[in-house]
Amino acid sequence: HAEHARQLRGKPGATKDGMPIALLANVAKPQDADAALEYGAEGVGLFRTEFMFMSSSVSPSVEEQTKAYVQLLSRFPGKKVVIRMLDAGADKPLEFLTPENEPNPALGLRGLRTLRTHPQILDDQLEALAQAQAQTEADLWVMAPMVADEHEADYFVKLGKEKGIKRVGAMAEVPSIALMANEVAQVSDFVSIGTNDLTQYTLAADRTLASVGAYQTAWHPAVLRAIKLIADAGKKHHMPVGVCGEAAADPDLALALVGLGVTSLSMTPLALDDVRANLAAHTSDEARELAERALAGEFYPLTRG
Ligand code: PEP
Ligand code: MG
Repeated sequence: HAEHARQLRGKPGATKDGMPIALLANVAKPQDADAALEYGAEGVGLFRTEFMFMSSSVSPSVEEQTKAYVQLLSRFPGKKVVIRMLDAGADKPLEFLTPENEPNPALGLRGLRTLRTHPQILDDQLEALAQAQAQTEADLWVMAPMVADEHEADYFVKLGKEKGIKRVGAMAEVPSIALMANEVAQVSDFVSIGTNDLTQYTLAADRTLASVGAYQTAWHPAVLRAIKLIADAGKKHHMPVGVCGEAAADPDLALALVGLGVTSLSMTPLALDDVRANLAAHTSDEARELAERALAGEFYPLTRG
């Protein structure tokens, strides 16, 4: 089984009947590119940029950031690389950016909300990304975390385009953006669904609390219905919709996500073999049937801990 899965590594992700699904890697630092390439990632679907900000008490300079982005992008000439803007706050607090006295940090200043209150940090990061884009051959996509609606998506996309970044999009992590998906699709080049946070916020269960850990599964039909709203809007407006949360790394859930209309999946490199093999073993009709059953809630009680 593992051997068969490994043999598929050189092949792009696709269902048995040949529907292509780009299989991408989540990376946390430029050096992770090695693992992504070793496991046959077709590009990067989520580069978490927090690592550069964690190690110091001040924001890294444009030059330092550009260097790190070039280091990653240069490993993927001609390939898609999705870089996420700094996601400070909540489960990723930064001492110099995150307020200490928030009673509910997950509902507080985080992601794009943090960046909006620090316009210089936002501008520096976009500037570094634009410079890195100009210095490499990779197909750079840039997205913001914790985007609430089409107004925030529009705000961020315009800033990115002003800098010359070619593809600018939004993460879908808050139920409000799923409910506004058609409007979002009119302003955003793409949407990438962060199922870790989308699950947390849809079920109002803190992702860091073991006591409510049973709620933290994207098999919940409410989460899947939110994803479907986004996938449907993507189809209607010809906007790519990916998933980059943990859900994409579960081979069965990955197949259900494909059945919902998601067009790319990004995961830890170690999960790529099994997801690729499961997609190759099923047709797109089977994926849609699985999605229908999951939307009806068939698998949620079984997976609830
Ligand atoms: C997510 O929320 O699903 C996601 C990919 O982002 P993070 O886990 O870094 O919050
Ligand atoms: Mg998130």
